Amino acid sequence: MPGKNLSREEAQQRAAILSVDSYRVHLDVTSAVDPAAATFSSTTTIAFRSSAPGASTFVDLLAPAVRSVTLNGHALDPAAVFDGVRITLAGLAEQNLLVVEADCAYSRTGEGMHRFVDPVDGETYLYTHYEPADARRVFATFEQPDLKAPFGFTVTAPAAWDVYNNAVHEDVTAEGDTRVWQFAATRPISTYLTAVVAGPYHVERDHYRRELADGSTLEIPLAATCRRSLAPYFDADEIFTVTKQGLDYFHQEFDFPYPFGKYDQCFVPEYNIGAMENPGCVTFREDFVFRSKVTEASYEGRANVILHEMAHMWFGDLVTMKWWDDLWLKESFADFMGSFSQIEATKYQSAWITFANRRKAWAYRQDQFPTTHPITADIRDLEDAKLNFDGITYAKGASVLKQLVAYVGRDAFFEGVRQYFKRHAYGNTVLGDLLGALEQTSGRDLTAWSESWLQTAGVNSLTPQITTDAEGRITEFAVVQDGATARPHRIAIGCYDRDTVGGLVRTHRVELDVHGTRTVVPELAGLPRPALVLLNDDDLTYCKVRFDGHSLETLRSGLGEIADGLARALAWSAVWNLTRDGLMPARDYLALVLRFAGQESDIGVLQSLHQQVKAALDVYADPAWRSEGARLLADCALRELRAAAPGSDHQLAWARFLAQTAREQEQFQLLRGLLAGTARIDGLDVDQDLRWLFWLALASSGEAGTEELDAELAADNTASGRQNLTECLAALPTAEAKAAAWSAVIDSDELPNALVEAQITGFNQPGQRELTAGYAERYFALLEDIWSERSIEIAMRIVGGFFPRYQISEQTLAAAEAWLAEHSSAAPALRRLVLECHDDLARALRAQSCDRS
Ligand SMILES: [Zn+2]
Repeated sequence: MPGKNLSREEAQQRAAILSVDSYRVHLDVTSAVDPAAATFSSTTTIAFRSSAPGASTFVDLLAPAVRSVTLNGHALDPAAVFDGVRITLAGLAEQNLLVVEADCAYSRTGEGMHRFVDPVDGETYLYTHYEPADARRVFATFEQPDLKAPFGFTVTAPAAWDVYNNAVHEDVTAEGDTRVWQFAATRPISTYLTAVVAGPYHVERDHYRRELADGSTLEIPLAATCRRSLAPYFDADEIFTVTKQGLDYFHQEFDFPYPFGKYDQCFVPEYNIGAMENPGCVTFREDFVFRSKVTEASYEGRANVILHEMAHMWFGDLVTMKWWDDLWLKESFADFMGSFSQIEATKYQSAWITFANRRKAWAYRQDQFPTTHPITADIRDLEDAKLNFDGITYAKGASVLKQLVAYVGRDAFFEGVRQYFKRHAYGNTVLGDLLGALEQTSGRDLTAWSESWLQTAGVNSLTPQITTDAEGRITEFAVVQDGATARPHRIAIGCYDRDTVGGLVRTHRVELDVHGTRTVVPELAGLPRPALVLLNDDDLTYCKVRFDGHSLETLRSGLGEIADGLARALAWSAVWNLTRDGLMPARDYLALVLRFAGQESDIGVLQSLHQQVKAALDVYADPAWRSEGARLLADCALRELRAAAPGSDHQLAWARFLAQTAREQEQFQLLRGLLAGTARIDGLDVDQDLRWLFWLALASSGEAGTEELDAELAADNTASGRQNLTECLAALPTAEAKAAAWSAVIDSDELPNALVEAQITGFNQPGQRELTAGYAERYFALLEDIWSERSIEIAMRIVGGFFPRYQISEQTLAAAEAWLAEHSSAAPALRRLVLECHDDLARALRAQSCDRS
């Protein structure tokens, strides 16, 4: 079988000679309820034109069987024209009509037509997910974003089901045990944006109405769906509230009526990503249906995703990138808009703190890998595209867009965007089209900005260089820039001193442009040296922030006393970067968290600190000190849990952190007591998700066995219960448990995506280094087979997840290097993943050496 890849050149050649008038797709998924049925029938009718009559082309299809292919009335022999991946179409006419009848496979990997059976009630649920190129697993398609067309879907499904699609259904007819759903034709959209969601989904409905400038009224029916068994937990009201706020906001700013009729938001099981912007039929991972208590940060995160996907209706769906090189254009825009609109239109006012703290951490990490790339990437083929849904494309891109808005001005930015939508509606674009519109509305030349920010890779660090006189007054203040390419940065510099009650407050702020490697700031000369200098205050640019020695001392004694939430988040982010870079010993970072996390008021920042400090201990701390650090963290978790306000988000966060750090009998007994109901912490509801977290802590420490875990599943025999049980069993500290988890993933491809994830997470426990050491060699030996045999989604999880990340030694580093040296011609995407894991390992060794010294 030839590769499933598609190159940019092939796509360009195809687009040069083809234009597509329409697709009609008929799917019959009545077989889905029969677990023995592996396939469904798919009939595609494509009307398309060719500017090169007589030429050949191909249509994409990944299907176990093709029953017939008819081109312009002539039956072609499937055995001759179908190779498992493509159907060759020779002798094109000017006007063509292609009909393909195929049997397509239900998926368990989240790619294509995913099938899921709910253990609670035995109901079957289907949904599709395609980006970048999996529509071809469901119907015959010219699988590239710039061959847009109207799609008309017909879906035959069991009678008790509902079916959702990008368009409204025009007709539903009963035929025996089935119903046939006829959907209206969509506007012209790209293949990867089509969607079908089918099953006995629970649905809630609402309605959005808006008077438009021309006096007409826009009506958008709203629906939100989830599995029936999740209905009791479904807070559709809150989802609709954010949805309406977003629709208000985007209509006001974009001045282009929502183009896709209705707006369904479907929360679906075993979803690989956060959400997907299918026009009129957005799919979300169902973890966003909260069945246990979550913190405000989770609600904020969900609202952000809702708004991100909604921004895509215009940017991505109405106007779409030509090829995946410009994937960033839609993702950066949506990522930026998610936070921007959240601040302007919703109650979630911490969005920029979260952005600075979480999204940018993702970007900084990605941007320091040897595999980093400019924001405008060179995407040669689909495998490149698949790996580029990364921290650069989303978070760094959004950071520079945020900066661009500041640079051209908010009004010029939105005016440019409005013109871009009107000019390119239903079409495809490249970067220059957006920059052109922005240049027009702002009157600024964006060439230099684009060159330094979009076309070069890497992150700069900015360091203050301060000299003072005998009285402690600043004689010279300079900002030193490091990094492969010095860039122009618009930054604010904040000077902080103690106020009368001991808080660190800003006493002085200057805003300036930093150019080149050293920029002197004359405005600060003559001022008394402040206790703390914070570069990039207000988070205007994208950079790593360093401190002068004096400021670092202030942070050690007072980081938690920085009064402003964003400034404090920036300080936390900066000390985390110092730790990762081996410039601050991990134990010093731990000391900061131990001292100040208890007073961190922003729940999102606190939850980041929990994650980061755990990583600092597991990966960056000197192994000889690890056990001492672990004791300190567990004691801190217990102390703060007991001190937290009853029923608060902070209390829940500390309870979770205790589960991640528990190591002594006293702590295990508390967890057991809380599980059994014999212990109580005032206000803490030990609900189902928290219970599983406690069981994971006990299981991975050898404090709980299979019998108890099975009993917990009996009480929570749900999809999420099964995932949790799988993770707990894989986390048991025995050679048998490790072998079973490894084998379940490696020796069979039967497991669905969600359980692959659970097995891998359970297998790789930081406290079980001896038990998993033996797998490193097997891992490297298997890589190429995994890459060629598994779907790319599953292969990526295995390659990233089973990498021996906790075997932090020169030996593992050498093994990774040997593999890379011996596999120079392995798939570039596979090499990229291994290079990134290798780089993480090398970074861990540097940080450990810093912590030792
Ligand atoms: Zn997106």
